[in-house]
Amino acid sequence: MCGILGYCAQEWDPSLAKFFGLQGFNLQHRGQENFGCTYSNGKKFNHFKDKGLVSQVFTRERRSEFDAIQPLIAIGQTRYATAGGTDAISAQPHWLTLLNGFYSNATNGDLPLLQKEIEDLEASGTILLSGNDGEVILKKILQSAHNDNGGDLVAGLKHLMETTPGAYSGCLMTLNELYLYRDPHGFRPLYYGRWRNAFVFASETCAFHERDAEIEREVYPGEVIVFDTNGIKKHHQVVTPKHSPQKCIFEPIYFARPDSQVYDTPKEVGSFRYQLGQQLAREKPVENAIVVPVPDSGRFSAVGYSTELGLPLRELFVRNPYIPRTFQIAGQANREDLVRLKFTVMRSLLERYRKVVIIDDSLVRSTTMRILITMIRDAAELCGVGKREIEIHIRLASPPIKGCCYYGIDTPESKELAAANQSIEDISKTIDATSLAYISLEGLDSVAAEFDDPANFCHACFTRAYPTPYQTRTR
Ligand code: 5GP
Ligand code: MG
Repeated sequence: MCGILGYCAQEWDPSLAKFFGLQGFNLQHRGQENFGCTYSNGKKFNHFKDKGLVSQVFTRERRSEFDAIQPLIAIGQTRYATAGGTDAISAQPHWLTLLNGFYSNATNGDLPLLQKEIEDLEASGTILLSGNDGEVILKKILQSAHNDNGGDLVAGLKHLMETTPGAYSGCLMTLNELYLYRDPHGFRPLYYGRWRNAFVFASETCAFHERDAEIEREVYPGEVIVFDTNGIKKHHQVVTPKHSPQKCIFEPIYFARPDSQVYDTPKEVGSFRYQLGQQLAREKPVENAIVVPVPDSGRFSAVGYSTELGLPLRELFVRNPYIPRTFQIAGQANREDLVRLKFTVMRSLLERYRKVVIIDDSLVRSTTMRILITMIRDAAELCGVGKREIEIHIRLASPPIKGCCYYGIDTPESKELAAANQSIEDISKTIDATSLAYISLEGLDSVAAEFDDPANFCHACFTRAYPTPYQTRTR
């Protein structure tokens, strides 16, 4: 999963550099492993990519190199590594100079047949530097554009969409053009709009709030939009999807920032989560309890849950914001240690309240919930209440996760997924909860219906009904 961002302007304006950096900053939640950027002033280009956060990679020195060439086009990516390592070579954007020009590309999403795409490209003589999907996509576009279509990149993108199943919202640039594109299923979001005399784009609308950029709309599934430095914009619906869109439902459930829009509705992700909490409360109420969010991902749903039932909302967990992402860490023991470090329990609450209902957005391997429950029981014992005196009810604002995601969410293989291998009752016992319940798929869809037709969302992680072919992942 990643965030992509950038602009195409008619004239250089020094505030563009600041705007670009702020967009990256506002898409930091979509990826913290790498940041990278390619930029061009129509004649000269430059690029950088590295490990780290936007603030660590877009250094003062790189910022002055950026300003020095006064770029009219820039593309950037914040990366959460799902394919390839976190080394700079696998980071994005990827770039390439051919005899006829310079090209650079960044994407958000995953290719479910990545291994096959790599083998096919290598068999046709293409050299790949990394196993990263953004590089594979760039080379596929260029191969088709140059070998069969006289260098026409729109034709190359059409060929990509006709032959490559998967999730890719992307940006491709030359020295003086910017191409935005979105796969025919539209798995990942991508928006464009205007800011001063520039076209701007970003994976999520929270990157437009800064400096009040105007959002125009989403790039449509199967669409390519070409912008140039003369201010011209051309739309090409290169592929007409034969199916309804398959927008990722996990974006509004977990991934996207609460102040972003849910796809092309003006409503915000935060209100989607709030309504999931209300729906969960109607389906799986608990009485006479305090409602406790798991920070930060369970917060909006916990507020919805407590409001619906008129129950008090209390912060039982304190989260240390300096602990890195626990979800991605290799090794179960390491993940557990980090969850323990990440959260602490407010003991005084346990002296007052003996019945808690904990709300989180999702339960994946069940590591987080199991450790949190152990921590509550240990804390209860330490303050003299007794481990078994606390009733701990778990409520989840998404249905059981039964399938690996091949489209960019970092859901692990099914052998690691709690709900793919155990009944709800067994999971409840394993994590030592008093009760465990999930929102129903119908309940989720009834909330989604207020934002978009539920048929337009991909639910494969809940249903295993994958909308494209895929290869089982071995990583
Ligand atoms: P578990 O500990 O059960 O494996 O994972 C559940 C927790 O991980 C939840 O708190 C949820 O917010 C978070 N989570 C769910 N999906 C993802 C993901 O794709 N990436 C990351 N970093 N966290 C996730
Ligand atoms: Mg979480």
